[in-house]
Amino acid sequence: MPWCDDCDRFYTPTTLTPDGHCPEGHQVAEPSEADGEAKVPWHFWLLVVALALYLGWRAVEGIIWLFS
Ligand SMILES: [Zn+2]
Repeated sequence: MPWCDDCDRFYTPTTLTPDGHCPEGHQVAEPSEADGEAKVPWHFWLLVVALALYLGWRAVEGIIWLFS
C-alpha cells in the first residue's frame, strides 16, 4: 500500500499515476515499480499469437475432417 507523506494518507496502486505520483502530484512509488505492473511482457503476446495459430490450425483440420 503506497503511503504519501505529504497528503498523510494511503493510496491504492490504481489511484497513482503510471509515474508513481499521487493525485496531488507527490512522488509516492518507484516509477519502475508502477511501470512493471502496467506493462504486458512481449512474450505474453508471442504466446497469444502462437495459441491463435494453433487453434486456427485445429479449426482448419476439423473442417477438413468434416468434409472428407
Ligand atoms: Zn500526495
